[in-house]
Amino acid sequence: KPVFRFAPSPNGRLHLGHALSALTNQAMVLKVGGHLLLRIEDIDLTRSRAEFVEGIVEDLAWLGIAFEPGIRRQSEHFDDYAKALDALRERGLIYPCFRSRQEIRAEVTAWETEAGRPWPTDPDGAPLYPGPCKALEPGDGMRRIAAGEPHVLRLDMAKARAIAGKALSYTVFDGEGGTRVVMAAPDRWGDVVLARKDVPTSYHLAVVVDDALQGVTHVVRGRDLEAATDIHVVLQHLLGLPTPLYHFHRLLLDKDGRKLAKSRQSDSLAALRAAGGSPAAIRRRLGFA
Ligand code: GLU
Repeated sequence: KPVFRFAPSPNGRLHLGHALSALTNQAMVLKVGGHLLLRIEDIDLTRSRAEFVEGIVEDLAWLGIAFEPGIRRQSEHFDDYAKALDALRERGLIYPCFRSRQEIRAEVTAWETEAGRPWPTDPDGAPLYPGPCKALEPGDGMRRIAAGEPHVLRLDMAKARAIAGKALSYTVFDGEGGTRVVMAAPDRWGDVVLARKDVPTSYHLAVVVDDALQGVTHVVRGRDLEAATDIHVVLQHLLGLPTPLYHFHRLLLDKDGRKLAKSRQSDSLAALRAAGGSPAAIRRRLGFA
């Protein structure tokens, strides 16, 4: 049976964009058949708050979206992500990096000034990792980790590609029975971060491990995560996990053309409800009759 999931991060109240995502999942489950799971993506312990988890559950119930019993909270499963990291480490696919984001920016800016052209960026607009931690002697890295030096763990994308193969693809479904195969282009992300000192995993790693552990077959999420799927497909190959089918729904933009964000509290469902909005009105507004 198909398994879908809605996987919000509890660092704010749900807004209309989340409602669109949850309702799209629900509509697809109704069409295809299957189960809908709720997963709380709370690996960032500094930003996640218990009251937001309660808010999510409350808002979704109010919207009329039912989930299978049992909510998986990622913060309770750091062991699972550590195991996946170990498997990658054993094959020499990750390396520690001791540069901070600021140091990388400074280095990139210096390079750009000298070269007179922009340094390449990843699909999210962040500069591709310029090295050179990869070249560190492994013993040297271990010594610095043991000494407690702050660091992140990066995926060696060139090596990952060499192992996973150049022809990586995944299948997108449209909910009407149609599918198309998409080539993944993970190289455009460079050596992505898979774990940090304060957050011992990353969105990419946790999402891939959990989708597999939970038997998710159909991932329905926003277009803002379409490009990141390339990274997920590589990780699935490296970890021997199945690749689900994917569907990317449209994004809601505010009047300035920006993506709705929790940080701006744009159109939170709680605020709409307090102002007298009804679940039916929200469904209609988002195109679900
Ligand atoms: N937790 C992510 C978010 O809130 C969504 C993850 C996913 O659907 O893959 O944007």
